[in-house]
Amino acid sequence: MSSLHSVKKIIKDRIHEGSVVVEGWVRFVRKSKQFCFVVFNDGSTQDNMQIVVDASLSNYAEISKMINGTSISVLGDLRVSEGKGQAVELDAKEFTIVGHVEADYPLQKKATSLEFLRENAHLRARTQLFGAVFRVKNALSYATHRFFQEQDFYWIHTPILTASDCEGAGEMFRVSTLDPKNPPLDDKGEIDYTKDYFGAPTHLTVSGQLNVECFSMGLNKVYTFGPTFRAENSHTHRHLSEFWMIEPEIAFAGLDEVADLAIEYMKYLINYCLSHCPKELEFIEKRESPGLVERLQGVVTSEVVKITYTKAIEILEAAHAKENFEFAPKWGIDLQTEHERYLTEGFHQGPVIVTDYPKDIKAFYMKLSDDGKTVRAMDVLVPGIGEIIGGSQREEKLDTLKKRIKEMNLSESDYWWYLDLRKYGTAPHGGFGLGFERMVQYVTGLHNIRDVMAFPRVQGNAKF
Ligand code: ATP
Ligand code: MN
Repeated sequence: MSSLHSVKKIIKDRIHEGSVVVEGWVRFVRKSKQFCFVVFNDGSTQDNMQIVVDASLSNYAEISKMINGTSISVLGDLRVSEGKGQAVELDAKEFTIVGHVEADYPLQKKATSLEFLRENAHLRARTQLFGAVFRVKNALSYATHRFFQEQDFYWIHTPILTASDCEGAGEMFRVSTLDPKNPPLDDKGEIDYTKDYFGAPTHLTVSGQLNVECFSMGLNKVYTFGPTFRAENSHTHRHLSEFWMIEPEIAFAGLDEVADLAIEYMKYLINYCLSHCPKELEFIEKRESPGLVERLQGVVTSEVVKITYTKAIEILEAAHAKENFEFAPKWGIDLQTEHERYLTEGFHQGPVIVTDYPKDIKAFYMKLSDDGKTVRAMDVLVPGIGEIIGGSQREEKLDTLKKRIKEMNLSESDYWWYLDLRKYGTAPHGGFGLGFERMVQYVTGLHNIRDVMAFPRVQGNAKF
Protein backbone atom coordinates (compact mmCIF):
# COMPACT_ATOMS: atom_id res chain seq x y z
CA MET A 1 0.00 0.00 0.00
CA SER A 2 1.24 3.46 -0.79
CA SER A 3 -0.30 6.71 0.27
CA LEU A 4 0.13 10.43 -0.25
CA HIS A 5 2.74 11.93 2.08
CA SER A 6 3.91 15.48 2.60
CA VAL A 7 7.66 15.98 2.76
CA LYS A 8 7.13 17.64 6.14
CA LYS A 9 5.55 14.48 7.51
CA ILE A 10 8.21 12.22 6.03
CA ILE A 11 10.94 14.25 7.73
CA LYS A 12 9.09 14.86 10.99
CA ASP A 13 8.08 11.23 11.47
CA ARG A 14 11.49 10.02 10.24
CA ILE A 15 9.95 7.73 7.67
CA HIS A 16 12.91 5.99 5.99
CA GLU A 17 11.28 3.22 4.03
CA GLY A 18 8.11 2.08 2.35
CA SER A 19 6.14 3.04 -0.69
CA VAL A 20 4.73 6.59 -0.81
CA VAL A 21 3.25 9.10 -3.21
CA VAL A 22 4.57 12.66 -3.15
CA GLU A 23 3.35 15.68 -5.10
CA GLY A 24 4.95 19.05 -5.68
CA TRP A 25 6.93 21.30 -7.98
CA VAL A 26 10.31 20.66 -9.54
CA ARG A 27 13.18 22.90 -8.50
CA PHE A 28 15.80 21.41 -10.81
CA VAL A 29 16.87 18.22 -12.53
CA ARG A 30 20.42 16.88 -12.45
CA LYS A 31 21.27 14.35 -15.13
CA SER A 32 23.79 11.56 -15.31
CA LYS A 33 24.07 8.65 -17.74
CA GLN A 34 21.93 5.97 -16.14
CA PHE A 35 19.57 8.09 -14.09
CA CYS A 36 18.64 11.62 -13.07
CA PHE A 37 17.96 13.40 -9.79
CA VAL A 38 14.81 15.47 -9.54
CA VAL A 39 14.85 17.93 -6.66
CA PHE A 40 11.38 19.14 -5.78
CA ASN A 41 9.50 21.00 -3.07
CA ASP A 42 5.91 20.38 -2.03
CA GLY A 43 5.35 23.56 -0.02
CA SER A 44 4.86 21.73 3.28
CA THR A 45 8.32 22.61 4.52
CA GLN A 46 11.51 24.46 3.65
CA ASP A 47 13.27 21.18 2.81
CA ASN A 48 13.42 20.01 -0.76
CA MET A 49 13.40 16.29 -1.47
CA GLN A 50 15.39 14.35 -4.02
CA ILE A 51 13.88 11.75 -6.32
CA VAL A 52 16.09 9.27 -8.13
CA VAL A 53 14.73 8.39 -11.58
CA ASP A 54 16.17 5.44 -13.43
CA ALA A 55 16.59 5.68 -17.20
CA SER A 56 14.50 2.54 -17.55
CA LEU A 57 11.28 4.44 -16.75
CA SER A 58 9.14 4.65 -19.90
CA ASN A 59 8.79 8.46 -19.76
CA TYR A 60 12.42 9.04 -18.75
CA ALA A 61 13.19 11.29 -21.74
CA GLU A 62 10.41 13.66 -20.78
CA ILE A 63 11.30 13.60 -17.08
CA SER A 64 14.93 14.44 -17.69
CA LYS A 65 13.91 17.54 -19.65
CA MET A 66 11.57 18.99 -17.00
CA ILE A 67 12.24 22.57 -15.94
CA ASN A 68 11.82 24.51 -12.71
CA GLY A 69 8.14 24.81 -11.77
CA THR A 70 6.83 21.62 -13.40
CA SER A 71 4.22 19.94 -11.20
CA ILE A 72 4.68 16.23 -10.53
CA SER A 73 3.15 13.28 -8.75
CA VAL A 74 5.46 10.39 -7.98
CA LEU A 75 5.04 6.93 -6.54
CA GLY A 76 8.25 5.51 -5.20
CA ASP A 77 10.15 3.79 -2.42
CA LEU A 78 11.77 5.81 0.34
CA ARG A 79 15.34 4.97 1.27
CA VAL A 80 18.08 6.42 3.40
CA SER A 81 20.02 8.85 1.26
CA GLU A 82 23.74 8.51 0.74
CA GLY A 83 23.98 12.08 -0.46
CA LYS A 84 24.69 15.03 1.78
CA GLY A 85 21.98 17.38 3.01
CA GLN A 86 19.04 15.01 3.13
CA ALA A 87 18.07 12.03 5.26
CA VAL A 88 15.89 10.25 2.74
CA GLU A 89 15.31 10.16 -0.97
CA LEU A 90 12.72 8.58 -3.19
CA ASP A 91 13.33 5.86 -5.76
CA ALA A 92 10.73 6.57 -8.46
CA LYS A 93 8.51 3.74 -9.71
CA GLU A 94 5.77 5.72 -11.42
CA PHE A 95 6.46 9.31 -12.40
CA THR A 96 3.58 11.53 -13.58
CA ILE A 97 4.12 14.99 -14.97
CA VAL A 98 0.96 16.81 -13.89
CA GLY A 99 1.60 20.20 -15.44
CA HIS A 100 4.30 21.40 -17.84
CA VAL A 101 5.82 24.87 -17.64
CA GLU A 102 5.55 27.06 -20.70
CA ALA A 103 8.67 28.68 -22.05
CA ASP A 104 7.74 32.20 -20.92
CA TYR A 105 7.60 31.26 -17.18
CA PRO A 106 8.78 34.44 -15.42
CA LEU A 107 10.52 32.66 -12.53
CA GLN A 108 12.81 30.46 -14.60
CA LYS A 109 15.97 32.28 -13.65
CA LYS A 110 17.51 31.34 -10.35
CA ALA A 111 17.98 34.82 -8.99
CA THR A 112 15.02 37.13 -9.17
CA SER A 113 14.86 40.47 -7.37
CA LEU A 114 12.24 41.26 -4.77
CA GLU A 115 11.00 44.10 -7.01
CA PHE A 116 10.50 41.70 -9.89
CA LEU A 117 8.67 39.27 -7.63
CA ARG A 118 6.35 42.05 -6.43
CA GLU A 119 5.28 42.52 -10.05
CA ASN A 120 4.57 38.80 -10.15
CA ALA A 121 2.85 38.50 -6.78
CA HIS A 122 0.61 35.74 -8.15
CA LEU A 123 3.65 33.51 -8.68
CA ARG A 124 6.00 34.46 -5.87
CA ALA A 125 4.63 31.89 -3.41
CA ARG A 126 6.58 29.35 -5.48
CA THR A 127 9.94 30.76 -4.47
CA GLN A 128 11.78 29.37 -1.47
CA LEU A 129 12.02 32.84 0.02
CA PHE A 130 8.28 33.50 -0.04
CA GLY A 131 7.54 29.97 1.11
CA ALA A 132 9.74 30.69 4.12
CA VAL A 133 8.27 34.14 4.84
CA PHE A 134 4.69 32.94 4.66
CA ARG A 135 5.31 29.89 6.82
CA VAL A 136 6.86 32.26 9.38
CA LYS A 137 3.85 34.55 9.08
CA ASN A 138 1.54 31.60 9.67
CA ALA A 139 3.54 30.64 12.75
CA LEU A 140 3.30 34.19 14.11
CA SER A 141 -0.42 34.19 13.58
CA TYR A 142 -0.87 30.87 15.34
CA ALA A 143 1.47 31.92 18.15
CA THR A 144 -0.53 35.10 18.62
CA HIS A 145 -3.68 33.16 19.36
CA ARG A 146 -1.78 30.68 21.47
CA PHE A 147 -0.20 33.42 23.57
CA PHE A 148 -3.46 35.23 24.28
CA GLN A 149 -5.49 32.07 24.78
CA GLU A 150 -2.89 30.71 27.23
CA GLN A 151 -3.26 33.94 29.17
CA ASP A 152 -7.07 33.63 29.21
CA PHE A 153 -7.80 36.42 26.78
CA TYR A 154 -10.95 36.22 24.64
CA TRP A 155 -10.84 36.93 20.92
CA ILE A 156 -13.43 39.52 19.87
CA HIS A 157 -14.25 40.18 16.22
CA THR A 158 -14.75 43.92 15.97
CA PRO A 159 -16.54 45.39 12.95
CA ILE A 160 -14.85 46.14 9.66
CA LEU A 161 -17.60 48.48 8.49
CA THR A 162 -18.05 51.34 10.90
CA ALA A 163 -19.59 54.75 11.30
CA SER A 164 -17.17 55.79 14.06
CA ASP A 165 -13.68 56.89 13.20
CA CYS A 166 -11.47 55.93 16.19
CA GLU A 167 -10.11 59.43 16.81
CA GLY A 168 -8.77 59.81 13.31
CA ALA A 169 -6.09 57.14 13.77
CA GLY A 170 -5.69 57.32 10.01
CA GLU A 171 -7.29 58.48 6.78
CA MET A 172 -10.35 56.37 6.09
CA PHE A 173 -11.84 54.65 3.04
CA ARG A 174 -15.48 55.52 2.53
CA VAL A 175 -18.00 52.73 2.04
CA SER A 176 -21.12 53.80 0.19
CA THR A 177 -23.84 52.47 -2.08
CA LEU A 178 -24.86 55.94 -3.28
CA ASP A 179 -24.76 56.59 -7.02
CA PRO A 180 -21.49 58.53 -7.46
CA LYS A 181 -22.84 60.26 -10.59
CA ASN A 182 -26.02 61.42 -8.97
CA PRO A 183 -25.83 61.38 -5.15
CA PRO A 184 -28.74 62.72 -3.08
CA LEU A 185 -28.03 66.24 -1.79
CA ASP A 186 -29.18 67.98 1.39
CA ASP A 187 -30.45 71.58 1.52
CA LYS A 188 -26.85 72.86 1.74
CA GLY A 189 -25.98 71.05 -1.48
CA GLU A 190 -23.78 68.51 0.35
CA ILE A 191 -24.06 64.77 -0.22
CA ASP A 192 -26.83 63.47 2.03
CA TYR A 193 -25.38 60.42 3.74
CA THR A 194 -28.54 59.88 5.76
CA LYS A 195 -29.78 58.39 2.48
CA ASP A 196 -26.77 56.09 2.24
CA TYR A 197 -26.91 52.37 3.00
CA PHE A 198 -26.27 52.69 6.75
CA GLY A 199 -27.99 56.06 7.11
CA ALA A 200 -24.69 57.70 8.10
CA PRO A 201 -21.21 58.24 6.65
CA THR A 202 -19.51 54.85 6.85
CA HIS A 203 -15.91 53.71 6.46
CA LEU A 204 -13.62 50.73 6.67
CA THR A 205 -12.23 50.49 10.17
CA VAL A 206 -8.81 51.96 11.03
CA SER A 207 -8.74 50.24 14.45
CA GLY A 208 -11.00 48.05 16.56
CA GLN A 209 -9.91 49.67 19.81
CA LEU A 210 -13.01 51.61 20.82
CA ASN A 211 -15.16 48.54 20.19
CA VAL A 212 -12.89 46.16 22.02
CA GLU A 213 -12.77 48.52 25.00
CA CYS A 214 -16.51 47.91 25.39
CA PHE A 215 -15.85 44.19 25.66
CA SER A 216 -12.97 44.68 28.05
CA MET A 217 -15.45 46.30 30.44
CA GLY A 218 -17.32 42.98 30.56
CA LEU A 219 -14.91 40.18 29.72
CA ASN A 220 -11.80 41.96 31.05
CA LYS A 221 -8.98 40.39 28.99
CA VAL A 222 -9.84 40.57 25.29
CA TYR A 223 -8.10 41.02 21.95
CA THR A 224 -8.91 41.69 18.33
CA PHE A 225 -6.96 40.24 15.43
CA GLY A 226 -8.25 41.36 12.08
CA PRO A 227 -7.86 43.60 9.05
CA THR A 228 -7.68 47.38 9.29
CA PHE A 229 -7.57 49.93 6.49
CA ARG A 230 -5.86 53.27 6.15
CA ALA A 231 -5.80 55.52 3.09
CA GLU A 232 -2.16 56.40 3.73
CA ASN A 233 -0.80 58.93 1.31
CA SER A 234 2.79 58.20 2.10
CA HIS A 235 4.93 55.73 0.23
CA THR A 236 7.12 54.10 2.82
CA HIS A 237 8.58 50.66 3.41
CA ARG A 238 6.35 50.18 6.47
CA HIS A 239 2.86 51.40 5.49
CA LEU A 240 0.14 49.40 3.76
CA SER A 241 -3.43 50.48 2.98
CA GLU A 242 -4.72 47.15 4.26
CA PHE A 243 -2.98 45.46 7.17
CA TRP A 244 -3.86 43.27 10.13
CA MET A 245 -3.71 44.47 13.66
CA ILE A 246 -3.71 42.75 17.04
CA GLU A 247 -5.27 44.85 19.77
CA PRO A 248 -5.39 43.44 23.31
CA GLU A 249 -7.23 45.36 26.01
CA ILE A 250 -7.14 44.70 29.76
CA ALA A 251 -9.32 46.06 32.54
CA PHE A 252 -8.20 47.09 36.04
CA ALA A 253 -4.76 47.76 34.63
CA GLY A 254 -2.47 50.68 33.92
CA LEU A 255 0.27 51.48 31.43
CA ASP A 256 2.91 49.36 33.20
CA GLU A 257 0.84 46.20 32.82
CA VAL A 258 0.18 47.07 29.19
CA ALA A 259 3.90 47.56 28.51
CA ASP A 260 4.76 44.29 30.28
CA LEU A 261 2.17 42.47 28.18
CA ALA A 262 3.62 43.95 24.98
CA ILE A 263 7.14 42.80 25.86
CA GLU A 264 6.03 39.33 26.89
CA TYR A 265 3.97 38.94 23.72
CA MET A 266 6.78 40.07 21.41
CA LYS A 267 9.28 37.74 23.06
CA TYR A 268 6.80 34.87 22.91
CA LEU A 269 6.35 35.39 19.16
CA ILE A 270 10.08 35.46 18.52
CA ASN A 271 10.70 32.41 20.69
CA TYR A 272 7.93 30.54 18.93
CA CYS A 273 9.48 31.23 15.53
CA LEU A 274 12.97 30.37 16.69
CA SER A 275 11.78 26.96 17.85
CA HIS A 276 9.19 26.21 15.13
CA CYS A 277 10.68 27.79 12.00
CA PRO A 278 14.46 27.32 12.31
CA LYS A 279 14.91 26.28 8.67
CA GLU A 280 12.81 29.15 7.40
CA LEU A 281 14.75 31.70 9.47
CA GLU A 282 18.04 30.18 8.37
CA PHE A 283 17.00 30.44 4.72
CA ILE A 284 15.78 34.03 5.06
CA GLU A 285 18.98 34.93 6.90
CA LYS A 286 21.13 33.49 4.12
CA ARG A 287 19.16 35.19 1.38
CA GLU A 288 18.05 38.54 2.79
CA SER A 289 18.89 39.18 6.45
CA PRO A 290 22.48 38.64 7.58
CA GLY A 291 22.71 37.99 11.33
CA LEU A 292 18.95 37.43 11.68
CA VAL A 293 18.86 34.46 14.06
CA GLU A 294 21.46 35.89 16.42
CA ARG A 295 19.62 39.20 16.49
CA LEU A 296 16.33 37.49 17.35
CA GLN A 297 18.01 35.45 20.06
CA GLY A 298 19.40 38.70 21.43
CA VAL A 299 15.94 40.23 21.64
CA VAL A 300 14.44 37.40 23.69
CA THR A 301 17.32 37.24 26.14
CA SER A 302 17.81 40.94 26.81
CA GLU A 303 15.86 43.51 28.81
CA VAL A 304 13.76 45.86 26.73
CA VAL A 305 14.78 49.45 27.44
CA LYS A 306 11.95 51.69 28.69
CA ILE A 307 12.33 55.48 28.70
CA THR A 308 9.94 58.40 28.94
CA TYR A 309 9.38 60.69 25.98
CA THR A 310 10.99 63.50 27.96
CA LYS A 311 14.11 61.39 28.46
CA ALA A 312 14.06 60.37 24.77
CA ILE A 313 14.06 64.05 23.79
CA GLU A 314 17.02 64.69 26.10
CA ILE A 315 18.90 61.80 24.49
CA LEU A 316 18.08 63.07 21.01
CA GLU A 317 18.98 66.67 21.83
CA ALA A 318 22.33 65.50 23.15
CA ALA A 319 22.91 63.49 19.96
CA HIS A 320 21.74 66.23 17.61
CA ALA A 321 25.14 67.90 17.20
CA LYS A 322 26.70 64.65 16.04
CA GLU A 323 23.74 63.12 14.19
CA ASN A 324 22.58 66.35 12.58
CA PHE A 325 18.92 65.27 12.37
CA GLU A 326 16.77 66.79 9.67
CA PHE A 327 14.13 67.61 12.30
CA ALA A 328 15.61 69.19 15.42
CA PRO A 329 14.43 67.27 18.48
CA LYS A 330 12.45 69.46 20.88
CA TRP A 331 9.94 68.66 23.62
CA GLY A 332 6.48 68.60 22.04
CA ILE A 333 7.31 67.26 18.58
CA ASP A 334 6.25 63.86 17.32
CA LEU A 335 9.25 61.55 16.95
CA GLN A 336 10.39 61.29 13.34
CA THR A 337 11.69 58.14 11.68
CA GLU A 338 15.29 59.38 12.06
CA HIS A 339 14.73 59.86 15.79
CA GLU A 340 13.21 56.41 16.18
CA ARG A 341 16.17 54.96 14.32
CA TYR A 342 18.64 56.71 16.55
CA LEU A 343 16.93 55.47 19.70
CA THR A 344 16.89 51.83 18.52
CA GLU A 345 20.10 51.69 16.51
CA GLY A 346 22.38 54.36 18.02
CA PHE A 347 21.45 54.98 21.66
CA HIS A 348 20.49 51.32 22.09
CA GLN A 349 20.64 48.37 19.70
CA GLY A 350 17.24 46.74 20.09
CA PRO A 351 13.62 47.49 20.99
CA VAL A 352 12.92 50.62 23.02
CA ILE A 353 9.65 51.54 24.71
CA VAL A 354 8.94 55.24 24.89
CA THR A 355 6.23 56.31 27.36
CA ASP A 356 4.44 59.42 28.55
CA TYR A 357 4.09 61.52 25.42
CA PRO A 358 2.84 65.12 25.29
CA LYS A 359 -0.95 65.05 25.25
CA ASP A 360 -1.17 67.27 22.16
CA ILE A 361 0.38 64.71 19.82
CA LYS A 362 -1.71 61.78 21.07
CA ALA A 363 -5.34 60.70 20.92
CA PHE A 364 -8.12 62.11 23.11
CA TYR A 365 -8.79 58.85 24.95
CA MET A 366 -5.34 58.48 26.50
CA LYS A 367 -5.07 58.82 30.26
CA LEU A 368 -4.04 62.31 31.31
CA SER A 369 -1.23 62.33 33.88
CA ASP A 370 -1.20 64.49 36.98
CA ASP A 371 1.30 66.86 35.34
CA GLY A 372 -1.53 67.89 32.98
CA LYS A 373 0.95 67.82 30.07
CA THR A 374 1.57 64.17 29.26
CA VAL A 375 -0.57 61.12 28.68
CA ARG A 376 0.05 57.52 29.67
CA ALA A 377 0.93 56.44 26.14
CA MET A 378 3.65 54.14 24.86
CA ASP A 379 5.21 53.27 21.54
CA VAL A 380 7.41 50.24 21.06
CA LEU A 381 10.18 51.07 18.58
CA VAL A 382 12.38 48.51 16.88
CA PRO A 383 15.50 48.81 14.71
CA GLY A 384 14.94 49.02 10.97
CA ILE A 385 11.22 49.73 11.24
CA GLY A 386 10.47 52.25 13.97
CA GLU A 387 7.06 52.03 15.60
CA ILE A 388 5.73 48.50 15.79
CA ILE A 389 3.28 48.95 18.69
CA GLY A 390 1.25 51.93 19.85
CA GLY A 391 -0.64 51.71 23.11
CA SER A 392 -1.92 53.54 26.15
CA GLN A 393 -3.82 53.52 29.37
CA ARG A 394 -7.26 54.92 28.58
CA GLU A 395 -8.86 57.86 30.37
CA GLU A 396 -11.44 56.30 32.68
CA LYS A 397 -12.75 59.54 34.24
CA LEU A 398 -15.88 60.88 32.56
CA ASP A 399 -15.18 64.58 33.18
CA THR A 400 -11.57 64.48 32.03
CA LEU A 401 -12.52 62.52 28.92
CA LYS A 402 -15.26 65.03 28.04
CA LYS A 403 -12.77 67.88 28.50
CA ARG A 404 -10.25 66.18 26.21
CA ILE A 405 -12.91 65.62 23.54
CA LYS A 406 -13.73 69.34 23.60
CA GLU A 407 -10.04 70.38 23.57
CA MET A 408 -9.43 68.28 20.49
CA ASN A 409 -12.43 69.72 18.67
CA LEU A 410 -14.27 66.43 18.58
CA SER A 411 -17.97 66.10 19.20
CA GLU A 412 -19.22 64.50 22.39
CA SER A 413 -22.35 63.21 20.69
CA ASP A 414 -20.26 61.05 18.32
CA TYR A 415 -18.80 59.23 21.32
CA TRP A 416 -21.92 58.87 23.49
CA TRP A 417 -21.54 55.09 23.74
CA TYR A 418 -17.82 55.36 24.47
CA LEU A 419 -18.54 57.87 27.23
CA ASP A 420 -21.16 55.49 28.67
CA LEU A 421 -18.32 53.09 29.58
CA ARG A 422 -17.12 55.79 32.00
CA LYS A 423 -20.59 56.35 33.43
CA TYR A 424 -21.44 52.80 34.33
CA GLY A 425 -18.82 50.97 36.37
CA THR A 426 -15.73 52.60 34.95
CA ALA A 427 -12.31 51.09 35.66
CA PRO A 428 -8.75 51.86 34.68
CA HIS A 429 -7.90 49.93 31.53
CA GLY A 430 -5.52 49.97 28.63
CA GLY A 431 -4.19 48.16 25.62
CA PHE A 432 -2.12 48.41 22.48
CA GLY A 433 -2.17 47.84 18.74
CA LEU A 434 0.52 45.77 17.06
CA GLY A 435 0.72 45.99 13.28
CA PHE A 436 0.98 42.34 12.35
CA GLU A 437 2.90 42.85 9.11
CA ARG A 438 5.42 45.07 10.90
CA MET A 439 6.00 42.20 13.32
CA VAL A 440 6.53 39.84 10.37
CA GLN A 441 8.98 42.38 8.95
CA TYR A 442 10.81 42.48 12.24
CA VAL A 443 11.05 38.70 12.61
CA THR A 444 12.14 38.15 9.00
CA GLY A 445 14.29 41.26 8.71
CA LEU A 446 12.71 42.04 5.33
CA HIS A 447 13.02 45.71 4.52
CA ASN A 448 9.79 46.25 2.60
CA ILE A 449 6.40 45.55 4.19
CA ARG A 450 5.06 44.66 0.71
CA ASP A 451 7.12 41.49 0.86
CA VAL A 452 5.36 40.15 3.94
CA MET A 453 1.81 40.69 2.65
CA ALA A 454 0.46 38.12 0.17
CA PHE A 455 -1.15 40.75 -2.05
CA PRO A 456 -0.18 44.16 -0.70
CA ARG A 457 -2.49 47.13 -1.17
CA VAL A 458 -0.83 50.52 -1.32
CA GLN A 459 -1.80 53.84 -2.86
CA GLY A 460 -2.12 53.36 -6.60
CA ASN A 461 -1.95 49.59 -6.47
CA ALA A 462 -4.57 46.99 -5.61
CA LYS A 463 -3.49 44.56 -8.35
CA PHE A 464 -4.17 40.83 -8.09
P1 ATP B 1 2.88 55.22 12.01
O1 ATP B 1 3.36 56.41 12.81
O2 ATP B 1 3.95 54.26 11.68
O3 ATP B 1 2.03 55.62 10.84
P2 ATP B 1 0.58 55.02 13.67
O4 ATP B 1 0.95 55.92 14.79
O5 ATP B 1 -0.33 55.54 12.63
O6 ATP B 1 1.91 54.41 13.00
P3 ATP B 1 -1.20 53.41 15.28
O7 ATP B 1 -2.38 54.19 14.84
O8 ATP B 1 -0.73 53.54 16.67
O9 ATP B 1 0.01 53.66 14.28
O10 ATP B 1 -1.45 51.86 14.92
C1 ATP B 1 -0.93 50.79 15.69
C2 ATP B 1 0.08 49.96 14.93
O11 ATP B 1 -0.40 49.61 13.64
C3 ATP B 1 1.39 50.68 14.63
O12 ATP B 1 2.24 50.62 15.72
C4 ATP B 1 1.92 49.91 13.45
O13 ATP B 1 2.56 48.72 13.88
C5 ATP B 1 0.67 49.51 12.72
N1 ATP B 1 0.39 50.35 11.55
C6 ATP B 1 -0.11 51.60 11.53
N2 ATP B 1 -0.29 52.05 10.27
C7 ATP B 1 0.10 51.03 9.47
C8 ATP B 1 0.13 50.85 8.05
N3 ATP B 1 -0.31 51.81 7.23
N4 ATP B 1 0.59 49.68 7.57
C9 ATP B 1 1.00 48.71 8.40
N5 ATP B 1 0.99 48.80 9.73
C10 ATP B 1 0.55 49.95 10.27
MN1 MN C 1 0.14 56.42 10.76
